[in-house]
Amino acid sequence: MADTAPDTHDLFPKGTLETRYTGLPEAFYSKLDPELSGAEPVVIHMNRNALPEIGLKEETADSDALKMVLAGQAGVKGAEPFAGVYAGHQFGHFVPQLGDGRAVMIAEGRTESRPWELQLKGSGRTPYSRFADGRAVLRSCIREYLCSEHMHALGIPTTRALSVIATREGVRRETVEPGAVMSRFAQSHIRFGHFEYFHHRNMKDEVRALADHLLEYHFPELAAEDDPYSAMFREVTARTARLMAKWQAVGFVHGVMNTDNMSILGLTIDYGPYGFLDEFQPTLITNHSDEGGRYVYANQPVIAHWNLRALAVALTSLVSMESLNTGLESYAPAFEAAWQEELCAKLGFAHLQEGDEKLADTFMSLLAETGSDFTSSWHALSHIAAEQERADVLPDDPRMSSWLENWQARLGEEEGDAVSRLRAANPKFVLRNWVAETAIRAVEDEFDLGTLDRIFRIVTHPYDDHDAEDDLFAGGPPDEFRNLAVSCSA
Ligand code: AMP
Ligand code: MG
Repeated sequence: MADTAPDTHDLFPKGTLETRYTGLPEAFYSKLDPELSGAEPVVIHMNRNALPEIGLKEETADSDALKMVLAGQAGVKGAEPFAGVYAGHQFGHFVPQLGDGRAVMIAEGRTESRPWELQLKGSGRTPYSRFADGRAVLRSCIREYLCSEHMHALGIPTTRALSVIATREGVRRETVEPGAVMSRFAQSHIRFGHFEYFHHRNMKDEVRALADHLLEYHFPELAAEDDPYSAMFREVTARTARLMAKWQAVGFVHGVMNTDNMSILGLTIDYGPYGFLDEFQPTLITNHSDEGGRYVYANQPVIAHWNLRALAVALTSLVSMESLNTGLESYAPAFEAAWQEELCAKLGFAHLQEGDEKLADTFMSLLAETGSDFTSSWHALSHIAAEQERADVLPDDPRMSSWLENWQARLGEEEGDAVSRLRAANPKFVLRNWVAETAIRAVEDEFDLGTLDRIFRIVTHPYDDHDAEDDLFAGGPPDEFRNLAVSCSA
């Protein structure tokens, strides 16, 4: 640690820090400090409202101690930082060793009985960095930061984000770019790939230790089941199915659904070349590193099942084949049920009836055929229900007019406040690529942190109306932002 490091002794209230992960055998992690840099870090954004979730007071947001900790320049007193090892199937191919190559867990704790882990991303090399530099560029930190908090605001399980801090050091990618460190937190960052790492090395004791760790801290309600390991697999399956339904419902495309990017807790994790659909093109390739289109919108629910199968393989030393197969078979009905629930809400219905699924399918097919904007079209339904008049974002097509008639007739049979239901299920704003890019350019080109904050406020309140001049962020990309490319390089 630098001699000038501020005292971080009182940052976390007494009794909030805990040691969990480093209680696992040593094969799971390497203890290390974030690689420190000498330059004075600059806070780009701090998620003040989230600080209490990890036991921090909001007042600490402006403290030097917190800034230095979140920049990787000072340690949390009493915590033992580490990087964890995992493996994973990347684009369908098994890679036996990955791990926290540019992430360091800097503290674990518990707040109001909820466990949390605080991680830095981009704080330097670790034993799992392979050939890479352990760094992150500012643009990718801003993208992950904004989207984590956006997903949370959309009610979608996700790792959370706490800060983006510029390191004032250049990071070499295609060009030299400004570097940054972001901090994120979650109950656990354990991935499917953690099990795969130990299973494929035939380290059965470690597979069991990992499962026991999860049961103890993250699935305590399953520990008393007859076959807790099998129950845990079923629970992971159910959570993954629900997560996929939620992604599909908002047009979110993760972009790199490798098994090392799949959370055991069913959280959205590792925001890289993600995107939200503008025009509804279900097979559009949004990640340019995904040439085969493996991870397009339309494939996500199927890929999740493929990934669960890889997880099942990694659990064969713990759970019978029969139970694993039963678990895998529960995926399709669980996804279907969750998807129906999402559609029911998006259509403004309190209960799904016979024929509703067809209604939703027809709407989606019409959007796809006419290349209509996914988010605006769904959101338009709340206006139509409120004002009884046709919104101009929907395609001017007789099939749409007749669909609207059918839908309104069906809506008329519903009790309660359909408009509120529609508003709560169909966000006005999603974090479109061009909107994230607007925030990034403002920060990188003008050091305009106000625009970043404005976009942060909009996407963390995605169902609300904001100022009239913010309405442009509710729409598709202006010409100068068309054809933005995102790839795995970050
Ligand atoms: P991702 O594509 O971000 O999910 O990363 C896949 C793997 O590559 C993970 O093991 C990461 O830790 C590692 N990785 C990605 N970028 C870097 C980097 N700049 N330095 C070190 N490791 C990295
Ligand atoms: Mg990853």
